[in-house]
Amino acid sequence: MTTPTARVLAHLDDIRPWLEGLYRHLHAHPELSMAEHATAQRVVDEVRSLTGGEELEVLTGIGGPSVCAVVRNGEGPTVLLRADTDGLPVEEATGLDYASQVRATTTTGESVPVMHACGHDTHVATLLATLRLLLLERAAWSGTLVLVFQPAEEQFNGAESMVADGLTERLPRPDVALGQHVLTGAAGSVMVSPGPIMASCDDFRIVLHGMGAHGSSPHRGIDPVVMAASLVMRLQTVVSRQVSPQATAVVTVGRIQAGTKTNIIPDHAVLEGTVRTYDDEVAARCLQIIERTVRAEAEAWGAPEPQFETFDHLPVTDNTPEATARVRAALAVELGEDQVRDFEPEMGSEDFSELPNAWGAPYCYWGFGAFDAELWARSEAAGTEGQDFPSNHSPRFAPVLQPTLDTGVRAMVAAAMAWVGQG
Ligand SMILES: [Zn+2]
Ligand SMILES: [Zn+2]
Repeated sequence: MTTPTARVLAHLDDIRPWLEGLYRHLHAHPELSMAEHATAQRVVDEVRSLTGGEELEVLTGIGGPSVCAVVRNGEGPTVLLRADTDGLPVEEATGLDYASQVRATTTTGESVPVMHACGHDTHVATLLATLRLLLLERAAWSGTLVLVFQPAEEQFNGAESMVADGLTERLPRPDVALGQHVLTGAAGSVMVSPGPIMASCDDFRIVLHGMGAHGSSPHRGIDPVVMAASLVMRLQTVVSRQVSPQATAVVTVGRIQAGTKTNIIPDHAVLEGTVRTYDDEVAARCLQIIERTVRAEAEAWGAPEPQFETFDHLPVTDNTPEATARVRAALAVELGEDQVRDFEPEMGSEDFSELPNAWGAPYCYWGFGAFDAELWARSEAAGTEGQDFPSNHSPRFAPVLQPTLDTGVRAMVAAAMAWVGQG
């Protein structure tokens, strides 16, 4: 007996050339966060080319260059399916014939190379394919689909700005939200686990004010470079000495900027960093210790009052257990039990959950593998995957076309059908 999911996916062979062509196009034409205008236009064009009739509604420009598509197909649950759309300022070094040659100008006027180094192009292509397949086989399902093509995940403000721009009033309330990410792993496999799988994020900015002087007379100034160096070392003890060893936390200073010339002591230094945890209380404690340490450091130097601010807060991605069990079961049926693995919790962060959180809706977020399964298995056996394969954000991150794309489509269709499938 053919299942409704199998009936939908029976069309995958027919649309595969289109899917692969679309993916290559997106890969060659990445755009920076909040500048995904051509990508959004392509999504709109693709959605409008589908025969959705009056039941297919397209909304653009919610909180940035986003595209939402709502398909009403009878009674049943409402399922939100999300893809993020942005690339990164990375110079592609994959050697692929469809590699990006794109350069773009940032909001600060800097010219940078752009690459789909996080694989969001696979998310856009597989979600459009999911929609196309579901529209080809409408009798197999019943309910409402809400597709969200979300900008600016990499900048951590895409979901936030969609929510701030009235997302919850403009889209129907979902009964569940589903999202996926291409990750290092065997192509053909998926990674899914209930509970907390990705960390919360709180970025911070510190401005240390010193007193400028000639480099040869440090005693006439207050040197913010030395102050910054000392502060960075002190911040290494936030997690190691001041947070419970039972807690999981990371404090990283990722950016320091000060000075213009060898023989000038500058008058200020800027430090930026990130706090990642699995617990709001731990995050709050880390930020409190950081701020206290910053103020004490400045005071120790007799320096002017420093500035401390936080930005880009992201919540923990905490998969709803019941929804995740349902997704996992559907993926096991579609892909085979041996292709379903656990999602290894990581300290990376993701803004997907801000969409379902805006409604208080349950959600599941999972990963799908990007690399040749045989090579991956060999590396895994040797314990050398970390060295053998580039990670997301690497200039060499190059998912194999297949079965990566097919798996992303099959996973998304199977997961959505776990709610809207008929019979
Ligand atoms: Zn990323
Ligand atoms: Zn990503």
